[in-house]
Amino acid sequence: MSVLIFIDSSEGHVKKASLEALSYGTAVAKQLNTTAEGVVLGSVTDDLAALGKYGVKKIHQVNDDSLNHFDSQVCANVLAQVAETTGSKLIVFSNNVDGKAVAPRLSARLKAALVSGAVALPDISEGFVVRKNVFSGKAFANISLNTEVKIVALNPNAYKAEAGEGTAEIVPFNAKIPSPKIKITAVNKASGEVPLTEAEIVVSGGRGLKGPENWGIVEDLAHALHAALACSRPVADAHWRPHNEHVGQTGIAIAPDLYIAIGISGAIQHLAGVNRSKTIVVINKDPEAPFFKAADYGIVGDAFDVVPKLTEAVNKLKN
Ligand SMILES: Cc1cc2nc3c(=O)[nH]c(=O)nc-3n(C[C@H](O)[C@H](O)[C@H](O)COP(=O)(O)OP(=O)(O)OC[C@H]3O[C@@H](n4cnc5c(N)ncnc54)[C@H](O)[C@@H]3O)c2cc1C
Repeated sequence: MSVLIFIDSSEGHVKKASLEALSYGTAVAKQLNTTAEGVVLGSVTDDLAALGKYGVKKIHQVNDDSLNHFDSQVCANVLAQVAETTGSKLIVFSNNVDGKAVAPRLSARLKAALVSGAVALPDISEGFVVRKNVFSGKAFANISLNTEVKIVALNPNAYKAEAGEGTAEIVPFNAKIPSPKIKITAVNKASGEVPLTEAEIVVSGGRGLKGPENWGIVEDLAHALHAALACSRPVADAHWRPHNEHVGQTGIAIAPDLYIAIGISGAIQHLAGVNRSKTIVVINKDPEAPFFKAADYGIVGDAFDVVPKLTEAVNKLKN
């Protein structure tokens, strides 16, 4: 039962979440006493052979320019060809935006059981059982996969990417590329120094900041920390910030190493999108704000006093 890991890339760069998927996939391969291989679609400028240090000996590359623009239907079709040719019985994705779009389509094509949002290595003592988060991270479910081919989409930040030694052999794969059913007419990039879904640090603001004219203090802190910007839903609804920064149940779900919430109360719908962050820092003037219960560190204080001081301290430390 060989393992195939989808290496997701954007503009020629391998995404961090893919490194976690590689480490996870090779660990599962070890559990199953088999080998793990990677698959990458389109052209990649990063050194693919160097990904061997995450445990894969071979990476199949479907190097066709048409794959440089992500299309989930085309991607699922091509991945199915790779999985079938290589005889892979387990396919691993990151449960990021691309993984969420492709894994279910591949699951339907291959008639493979899928767990999306896996948070741990499978229990193979009796079958193949994978743990995932349910109810916005409030509980776990153990899902048993009983089909011959299985798909696991790993939650970002749920498994550490461990680099060791080794290089991977890059093997060109000649796939039959289907014509896309969707025509891309323009690509409008969301603004921001750091993409939100890839960011290791996220600085987020809520209604406590009173208005868009006050976002300078949030931006300064984000800039000092090389962090992405995020916001609560009412902030986006009021057009203080663009909707691509809205995190939560109805916005983007993120899992950075560090999430700093400024003037955000910590409603359950907000927490649903950020509670997988490794470390949460909350700045709120109300000591009873519910967010403090989910925080690793809390500062009770006025954001307009605290945040500039924090930025100053970060800049001092960097200098
Ligand atoms: C179906 C549904 C889906 C939803 N989805 C989402 C979602 O995806 N994401 C999301 O964010 N929300 C979502 N919401 C809304 C959610 O319930 C909350 O209303 C929202 O998260 C509150 O945003 P907030 O914390 O910015 O504002 P508020 O609740 O108004 O909180 C502002 C906070 O700022 C603090 N504050 C005020 N002044 C200062 C100051 N000077 N310094 C420091 N702190 C200060 C206050 O003490 C308060 O805690 C959803 C709601 C529903 C019903």
